[in-house]
Amino acid sequence: MRIPKIDKEKCIGCGTCPLICPNVFRMTDENKAEVTNDTGDTEENIQSAVDACPTAAIFWEEKV
Ligand code: SF4
Repeated sequence: MRIPKIDKEKCIGCGTCPLICPNVFRMTDENKAEVTNDTGDTEENIQSAVDACPTAAIFWEEKV
């Protein structure tokens, strides 16, 4: 299965991904997105967050 990861160097803290998948992403005190629950939503909804990220900071990783 695939799980989402955040490239914190690329994240500009726009806050979009937690709006789309609040059970997967949240903003940290440093205003960077982080993954709180990598299976907290459907792949389709997480993909919507991936597509909506303005800096392509969210990427998929195969979970072994
Ligand atoms: Fe960061 Fe992208 Fe999420 Fe915006 S959508 S908070 S840039 S990871």
